[in-house]
Amino acid sequence: MNEYDSNRILDFTKNINYISTKNIEEADCYILNTCHIRAKATDKVYHEVGRVKKEFKNKKKPIVLIVGCVAQAEGEVLLKKEKFIDAVVGPQSYHKINKIISNIENNNKEINSTEFEVIEKFDQLHLIKNSNSKISSFLTIQEGCDKFCKFCVVPYTRGPEYSRSFSEIISEANQLIENGSQEIILLGQNVNAYNFKDKKLSDLLNSLNEIKDLKRIRYTTSHPKDFTNDLIDAHGECKKLMPLLHLPVQSGSTKILKSMNRNHTVEEYFAIIEKLKKKNPSIKFSSDFIIAYPGETKDDFEKTVSLMKQVEFINSYSFNFSARPGTPAANLKKINEKIAKERLTIFQRVAGEIKTKYRRKLVDSTTSVLFENKAKDADKYFGRDEYFNSVIVNSKENLSGKVRNVKIKSCNQNTLFGEIISENKPKEYAA
Ligand code: SAM
Ligand code: SF4
Repeated sequence: MNEYDSNRILDFTKNINYISTKNIEEADCYILNTCHIRAKATDKVYHEVGRVKKEFKNKKKPIVLIVGCVAQAEGEVLLKKEKFIDAVVGPQSYHKINKIISNIENNNKEINSTEFEVIEKFDQLHLIKNSNSKISSFLTIQEGCDKFCKFCVVPYTRGPEYSRSFSEIISEANQLIENGSQEIILLGQNVNAYNFKDKKLSDLLNSLNEIKDLKRIRYTTSHPKDFTNDLIDAHGECKKLMPLLHLPVQSGSTKILKSMNRNHTVEEYFAIIEKLKKKNPSIKFSSDFIIAYPGETKDDFEKTVSLMKQVEFINSYSFNFSARPGTPAANLKKINEKIAKERLTIFQRVAGEIKTKYRRKLVDSTTSVLFENKAKDADKYFGRDEYFNSVIVNSKENLSGKVRNVKIKSCNQNTLFGEIISENKPKEYAA
């Protein structure tokens, strides 16, 4: 979502002639879009500000803005601690960025803009064109969260659940397609909680599925609690909806899920997986895990490992619990750090073995790849298969925006390497 937000911030600043540069030395304004989800992400902000400060030590100081969730949560502290920062702008206030930059140009320092103005933000966003022209583009449809999992800062940094208007989303999707996008990834902190005047995520998926020039649709991140039957049906019906679902589970122990306030059991999670497999037998899953949540016993941990083995997630994001200030879980007794690290190592080893086994099986198989761009090396193209695996092939033909069948020849942990099977007609995702 920060990538989507950063692009939209640039769509705003273009109007006051601030355009992006890849060369930091040229920057008149430096905007750092931040994440507050774990302590490590927040620490990076201070580190990065220090780096930029050094970079500009003997040069004209750029305007420095910290935007996003760290700005929301720690704005006042940031401004007090680091005089190099001119303004902090929360994730629901970035539509005001041009005004803020102009104010700083006029020497009004230390601006704190962290109100929750999500309706105003999307009203303003709708008025400016989304100029993103990537082959695969993000599109935010929903923001915020009302679920209050005990470990999570999102309800406090992004604010309450908000769903954008159905017609605005379709119009922005058409804009992205006109710009050249062929894949749209719908975004939301709770994307399947989308609800605008009784229109749900499944309605959006069905409508996007009908757009002729759109090839692929994905969405992230969903919550098991909001996985309704109409959404499960969409996985059988929408041919352009890719068969990889990211469905965070966090833990394989119902006791821990309860203490996290996740509001579902492990059995209910399995039931969703089984229903989805019935609708679309080729579907595969990825997930998020929190290892060593307060109260997690050896037995609870083993249940998480066993869930990983049972579902065989082809990708996963796992981290030790990070106590976030202001969340209820921050006050709970932490698991011993050594044990927590050991559990994470064990879990990641099991997850890695499952991933490796899956990827090795792909060698010699044929997969359908949407190519996104030329890789840095000459005549190499980068794309993704239906399961979001990165694929690289050699090609003299410009493959950007094309779907091709690829025979996989080898792989490593992150990338599949293959060659185009020219005689095969690429798979079409007809509506
Ligand atoms: N809304 C999604 C859901 O409910 O699954 C997840 C969104 S959250 C922004 C992304 C992931 O960050 C979570 O799935 C969780 O695994 C991880 N996360 C959030 N807070 C955390 C914490 N305090 N410690 C460790 N991991 C955390
Ligand atoms: Fe955070 Fe997701 Fe829980 Fe909301 S549902 S509080 S975003 S983990």
